[in-house]
Amino acid sequence: MSRIELSLNPSSRALEIAERVEAFVRDVVVPYERDPRRDHHGAPLDELVYEMREHACAAGVLTPHILADGSHLTQRETALVLIKSGLSPLGPLACNTMAPDEGNMYLLGHKATEEQKDHFLKPLVEGRARSAFFMTEPSDDNGAGSDPSMMLTSCRQDGNHWVINGRKTFITGADGASVGIVMAKAEDGGACMFLVDLPDPAIRIDDVPNTIDSSMPGSHATVTIDNLRVPASQMLGEPGDGFKYAQVRLSPARLSHCMRWLGCCIRAHEIASDYACRRMAFGKALIEHEGVGFMLAENLIDIKQAELMIDWCAGVLDTGSLGTTESSMAKVAVSEALMRIADRCVQVMGGTGVTDKTIVEQVFREVRAFRIYDGPTEVHKWSLAKAHCRAACARPRRSAGPARGRRVELHRYLSPHRALPPADAQRARHGSGRRGRGGGRRCDARQPRPARRQLHRPGRLCQRPDPERDRLVPGARWRRFQDGCGSPAQGRDGRSLG
Ligand SMILES: Cc1cc2nc3c(=O)[nH]c(=O)nc-3n(C[C@H](O)[C@H](O)[C@H](O)COP(=O)(O)OP(=O)(O)OC[C@H]3O[C@@H](n4cnc5c(N)ncnc54)[C@H](O)[C@@H]3O)c2cc1C
Repeated sequence: MSRIELSLNPSSRALEIAERVEAFVRDVVVPYERDPRRDHHGAPLDELVYEMREHACAAGVLTPHILADGSHLTQRETALVLIKSGLSPLGPLACNTMAPDEGNMYLLGHKATEEQKDHFLKPLVEGRARSAFFMTEPSDDNGAGSDPSMMLTSCRQDGNHWVINGRKTFITGADGASVGIVMAKAEDGGACMFLVDLPDPAIRIDDVPNTIDSSMPGSHATVTIDNLRVPASQMLGEPGDGFKYAQVRLSPARLSHCMRWLGCCIRAHEIASDYACRRMAFGKALIEHEGVGFMLAENLIDIKQAELMIDWCAGVLDTGSLGTTESSMAKVAVSEALMRIADRCVQVMGGTGVTDKTIVEQVFREVRAFRIYDGPTEVHKWSLAKAHCRAACARPRRSAGPARGRRVELHRYLSPHRALPPADAQRARHGSGRRGRGGGRRCDARQPRPARRQLHRPGRLCQRPDPERDRLVPGARWRRFQDGCGSPAQGRDGRSLG
């Protein structure tokens, strides 16, 4: 079977770790893909996970992105390793590079105190425990979803404890986790993050719904938090900074999903290519049919684009930037590309593609869910569009000349060059409100458009029918029809003019 060569080459240590991870996943983990130890909707049971981790430990590939001295590989190095761990849907579980633990470990590594690290982070790094991140709230309650600021779960201080109440949903791995990171809003509206030992009787699992995906142990629970008391020492960082810490976790966690699922899609592509080489139709192998060859060629293009997008974003994160914009771009580009790849793999394999004889159908299901979690595609596009609107409508300096008014300079909103001088930032936020020489356009949908431009544009405001004008101005009646106002032969009162 031909294998995809990645062009990522961040360091010799990363290459060496990635090579070991790949060999382990292909030789040891892949045979587990048919292991029947699954829960009611197909998610691997902990017994299976911990058995694979013993093998990973023996092979020296358990938690491979965190080194023996506790330091983390760079993001570009992590990309190479996590893509390889993703070559099987079980690979990240076996190697302890899975979500949400990988992102939670990253957050704790950056923000937890030494005591908190010792208690909550150590068992995660050692692969002895699982964790869960509690942010999303049920849509029935109109709680936090795409918009985290809608958070309803509350926390209030009571002596040297905090008391938390609320409901959370889609909490991956909550069932069976030992470590929880819970987000809640304080009375002053500031968000707080708490570390909690699980299970706790004050956190009740109401429901674990069947979902389209099936790779994550514990699946995605809905829980009720009922007067959970957390010692103040278990708050992560400072009260009110919860959303700031969520940002720290957000970009790397998003990007690591891209890495793992790219690995899975690479393997699905290998399986589909193999099928196309062996399967005959109309006198020749499928792969020799142009339509099939094109699908596989498009996969190669999407794989390479996803890989480069990940590498670019990882490089930005390695500069110390939060990379919010870049990780939004990468998440959209990669998750959409992976969906196309997975879909083509299913198609190339015909009926076999939709059976559980290979992992291809699972990859298709997993990647579908990935377009929603860690920010649905539309939410990322919306926030990118907002940033673009600010940058595009910011009034350039007068000396720049009229032509520059509409040129969008990417550095205005990409991270490494993010800081704008205060005056520019002010303009970017509010728009100049001025037009003319050197002026940019206001970014205000309510701004009236000049009447003259409305006349001849389909879909713009309608020009009133005027028989006298229609008679004097050639083509006026036809243009009014194009604008969506009546027919070319209709007058003000609907009577025929023709
Ligand atoms: C498999 C899976 C695992 C998850 N794991 C976790 C977890 O471990 N912890 C956790 O806290 N959460 C988790 N989530 C929740 C996930 O983060 C949310 O589903 C996501 O944030 C979207 O929120 P929502 O489902 O409430 O969708 P809604 O907020 O109801 O949005 C629905 C749709 O509206 C559209 N939309 C929303 N805003 C805009 C906009 N501004 N512009 C255009 N369109 C828009 C989008 O298409 C979106 O998909 C998980 C979800 C899934 C599916």
